[in-house]
Amino acid sequence: MAKKHPLNRGVPCMKHKCVLCCLETRMPLTQSDIRRIMKAGYSLGGFAVKTREGWRLKNRSGRCVFLSGGRCIIYPIRPEGCRLYPLVYDEASGTARLDDLCPYREEFEATDRDIGRLNDLLRRLAEEGGRRHRPGSEKHQTYN
Ligand code: SF4
Repeated sequence: MAKKHPLNRGVPCMKHKCVLCCLETRMPLTQSDIRRIMKAGYSLGGFAVKTREGWRLKNRSGRCVFLSGGRCIIYPIRPEGCRLYPLVYDEASGTARLDDLCPYREEFEATDRDIGRLNDLLRRLAEEGGRRHRPGSEKHQTYN
């Protein structure tokens, strides 16, 4: 069985040089994500797009605008949803789980604290206007 790693360290991503979830991203952004990234000098229009469900990360040529040379250039200040992925909310079962679309999901370990964070993120996104948005569950529909 593969060794498990915390969600927020990205060890399996680096080990396998995987950037799959940064392609055609639909990652939602909280107001806090937006403030943090703008504080680092990025303009809102350069990294975010407004959708019916709220703000999301922008793609350029099918890749997250922050993906450069196979790396996330804002890794320390990346959006909360990116920190929690591949933990997602499965609307069908109403539970959090590791996303099938991540080929290395079995190398991640999601703790109860991570699940609490995901629930908190969902609540804040809903409060901020994206009531129809469910981070993670959308991976199969509209997320990432
Ligand atoms: S798809 Fe999984 S392994 Fe690949 S970059 Fe995303 S989280 Fe990492």
